[in-house]
Amino acid sequence: MLRDFINLIFPNYCITCNSSLYKQEKFICLQCKNELPELFYAANTTNPAAKLLTGRTSFNTCLPLYYYQKGGKVQKILKSLKYDNQTELCEFLGSLIGIKLKSFDSLNDIDLIIPVPLHPDREKIRGYNQSYYLGIGIASVLNIDVLEKAIIRKVNNATQTNKSRQERWQNVNDIFTLSSTTSLINQHVLLVDDVITTGSTVESCCNVLNKVNGIKISIATLAGA
Ligand SMILES: [Zn+2]
Repeated sequence: MLRDFINLIFPNYCITCNSSLYKQEKFICLQCKNELPELFYAANTTNPAAKLLTGRTSFNTCLPLYYYQKGGKVQKILKSLKYDNQTELCEFLGSLIGIKLKSFDSLNDIDLIIPVPLHPDREKIRGYNQSYYLGIGIASVLNIDVLEKAIIRKVNNATQTNKSRQERWQNVNDIFTLSSTTSLINQHVLLVDDVITTGSTVESCCNVLNKVNGIKISIATLAGA
């Protein structure tokens, strides 16, 4: 608890184990970084995140970087993304996603990065959209642009957890819209979010993107199944 507080002021401690960082380490100590459960999926058929979305929407592939486990290190990282204006941490983790994406030949023709948007009210409270900064980190590795406001969120779905799956699905399915379609025609876009759990947010983003002619959608997240 005290260490969490100290971390806010002196961010020289590992965000997952709280040990002090060496000069060459950034945000996560080398030992924790090596222990993070990285996922390696070559094909959609062996990829649980892609399987989760298959039949629900049209997409190329869906690649989470780390395996999400309740109470694990990855959950701790996801939590720290959302507080304390951690834009630099988001960019750092985004660059790790970018390095991973670079290793897949099928992803070397991505044209644009599109972050899943936060509702403007929530963005105002938090100060930033973590998915946008993950996107900036990915962009720095892949050398492509981030189109920040390509997808717009219409209503705040903050009360999601109290709803049934069906209600959540309906709720999430009319919350997104595209700001403009022309710049997306015939593009291979990379949709970016922090975590994929039920897949409903990513699904509805894909549904609005799929209205664009010739679009190809790949999905990258920091964590997922
Ligand atoms: Zn550590």
